[in-house]
Amino acid sequence: MRQLIRHIYLSSVGWFSKISPGVHIMNSHYLDGPQDEAMDRFYNLLRKLRSDMEFVNFQDAVEMVSKNNFGNGKYLSFSFDDGYRDNYTSVWPVLRQFNVNACVFVNPGFIDIKQHNQVNFFAEKHHTKKVRKPMTWEMIRQLASAGFKIGDHSYNHIDLGILEPAKYPLEILMSKQRIEREIGEPCEYFAWPYGKLHNISQPAIDYLLENYEYIFSSDNSNAYFSYNNERIINRRHFEASWPIHHVKYFLSFRKTTK
Ligand SMILES: [Zn+2]
Repeated sequence: MRQLIRHIYLSSVGWFSKISPGVHIMNSHYLDGPQDEAMDRFYNLLRKLRSDMEFVNFQDAVEMVSKNNFGNGKYLSFSFDDGYRDNYTSVWPVLRQFNVNACVFVNPGFIDIKQHNQVNFFAEKHHTKKVRKPMTWEMIRQLASAGFKIGDHSYNHIDLGILEPAKYPLEILMSKQRIEREIGEPCEYFAWPYGKLHNISQPAIDYLLENYEYIFSSDNSNAYFSYNNERIINRRHFEASWPIHHVKYFLSFRKTTK
């Protein structure tokens, strides 16, 4: 019932919403539903959004946000967390048609564990009830060669709000090194798992700032930055399968630089 009320509310306010100027960085996970339908729906969403916005590569969006250099335009860039296989099979082919990349934030522990355990990786962490497979390293390498950015999402999708600092090298540094070894280029971006401000701590932020160029939340998204730091950038969570009026509603909030 609450879901239905939310749907009706967002559909009606979204109908009148105007996308606000600024750089919007989308944070999604996967395209839901049967592959052909999901790709069509994502393509149609992007086609509608592009009539009002310019799509920019992830690294360019980061640069524009961090340098506060975007004038009055409306920009959208893309990121997908957890490294699900459909990022390769479905998201990439659609984004390619719009000539834009995404950053995929991956968990090496999800990719590396044996296949029969992979299916439960996120089910066990209550991240999703559905069983979903990860990309392989080969798929991730292909995305990187095609110009996608590969970001770190911690080794085992761990909650950094409660992780003890003694485990940071294992969950953070080892994860970065594993990704760099596989893709053969520096891994400069980290998105913390679960993404809310309570899923990170000050010691974790300090450690991340030492090891990455930029850090990403999926919270507080009406402000560009969190913790008053221009290297901690907030993304807007919406899934690629959401109706256009819901997405427009969320993109209608003007972002602040504080
Ligand atoms: Zn995640």
